[in-house]
Amino acid sequence: MLGLMQDQPLLISGLIDFAERHHADVEIVSRRVEGDIHRYTYKDAAGRSRQVANALDAMGLQFSDRVATLAWNGYRHFELYYGVSGSGRVLHTINPRLHPDQIAWIANHAEDQVLCFDMSFLPLVQAVHARCSTIRQYVALCDADKLPADTGIPGLVSYEAWIGQQPSSYHWPSFDENSASSMCYTSGTTGNPKAALYSHRSTTLHAYAAALPDVMSLSARDAVLPVVPMFHVNAWGIPYSASLTGAKLVFPGPALDGKSIYELIEAEKVTYAAGVPTVWQMLLGHMKPAGLKFSTLKRTVIGGSACPPAMIAAFNDDYGVEVLHAWGMTEMSPLGTLCTLKNKHQSLPDAEKMKIRLKQGRSIFGVDMKIVDAEGVELPWDGKTYGDLHVRGPWVVREYFKGEGGSPLVNGWFPTGDVATIDADGFMQITDRSKDVIKSGGEWISSIDVENIAVAHPAVAMAACIGVAHPKWDERPIVAVVKKPGAEVTREELLKFYEGKTAKWQIPDDVVFVDAIPIGATGKMLKTKLRELLKDYKLPA
Ligand code: AMP
Repeated sequence: MLGLMQDQPLLISGLIDFAERHHADVEIVSRRVEGDIHRYTYKDAAGRSRQVANALDAMGLQFSDRVATLAWNGYRHFELYYGVSGSGRVLHTINPRLHPDQIAWIANHAEDQVLCFDMSFLPLVQAVHARCSTIRQYVALCDADKLPADTGIPGLVSYEAWIGQQPSSYHWPSFDENSASSMCYTSGTTGNPKAALYSHRSTTLHAYAAALPDVMSLSARDAVLPVVPMFHVNAWGIPYSASLTGAKLVFPGPALDGKSIYELIEAEKVTYAAGVPTVWQMLLGHMKPAGLKFSTLKRTVIGGSACPPAMIAAFNDDYGVEVLHAWGMTEMSPLGTLCTLKNKHQSLPDAEKMKIRLKQGRSIFGVDMKIVDAEGVELPWDGKTYGDLHVRGPWVVREYFKGEGGSPLVNGWFPTGDVATIDADGFMQITDRSKDVIKSGGEWISSIDVENIAVAHPAVAMAACIGVAHPKWDERPIVAVVKKPGAEVTREELLKFYEGKTAKWQIPDDVVFVDAIPIGATGKMLKTKLRELLKDYKLPA
């Protein structure tokens, strides 16, 4: 017997319809590429999303055709999120930090038909357009009068001219909620990138889950600043969850430096922000010397890489901002776990609470996880035993676009490539990417632990730990360190700093001072590159 509830597909267009109907006057504020601040409302955004849909219809674009973007977080990008997916096409957000050859490769692989780009990326588009064989319309996200006369890009139009002639009325089509809605290529360090292809159903369910009190806890009383880019895993789903809850949206555009972000938080009374640790490091780096404080910010989600304990403590103790440590990946839409305490933890001493907050957190309903050994046997949840982290759920990838790489699943579970522990309360802690874990004398050393201690030293800006071959122990950890400008610390001082903070055998054998640590397109440290740079390195005798 089937239930007798209405059979209404979960579609992305439903989110913007809802925001328009119930939160019409709520603001969406954007810092534009031009540098000024643009503000309008969900009602305006909904109307212009429908103009986008009409513009795509006018081009004769078919259901599931791909429309690509190379854009910062801003209101036009937001309109494309809804206009493209809502009308049944697939939004392909391209990461502009990728190498131009890779951008051309993925645009061709995705068979993009349209490319909408911010003017910051004009030189990039000029460099790659001749190699993008499927794109038939280039759209610059600007006013008509901002379009330079001769760009060399055939048929280039401004976004405002492109949608300007279109009506703002449109009937969003209804279709199978399992239809593809958007796609994002992974920043895989080996082989060609592979795309996660999200559906309307997975995106809507993820938007619901992300808004929950123990997840992002988004509400109509929030002003949310997604610093995490809309070109990488849909800004962690915030553009969807904000419409679902009616939260005010504040988009930072290209200005991600500490000063610009701080000013935006204060001017727009942001209560909630989300980003990767490097962005928050720049923000705190700006605030501390100037003695600045937040007047409205209450919570921040930090993920994408492990959040250093020193950062959690600084936000909490110095600024009264709660840090929610999050973990996820492109293949998971992206949210998997979030670290919020349970009721029984409320009365713990601060130091005990901090130990929990450092973990990546517990599963969101919709993500099932387990840790397994090399044979695939499930390991215990004791907070100590390490294993390969596997996940499954309705917003976890089943297969990559065009079946690239074959089936990624193992017995129905997706192997994340992360190594983790899970404690008895279900709190997961990542210790490493499986390829970064250091094996010393048969024991594993977590490179994240080694890095966290180094960055807790006041003179250290950034640290990356890698294993180097050792005749007796197999591998030993060393840590590459970037010093803060003007700060001094010696190798010996830093090694001494480890004493008492970790087991003796987990202290790195050496400190190598470097000017910079290579960072990939999604802001994560590129350890493969670092290993290459240090290939001639020899451990001290
Ligand atoms: P991406 O698909 O580019 O978003 O990368 C996903 C990977 O980033 C995960 O598999 C983890 O290795 C890493 N990652 C994401 N969030 C965290 C976190 N909070 N702590 C440690 N690693 C993380």
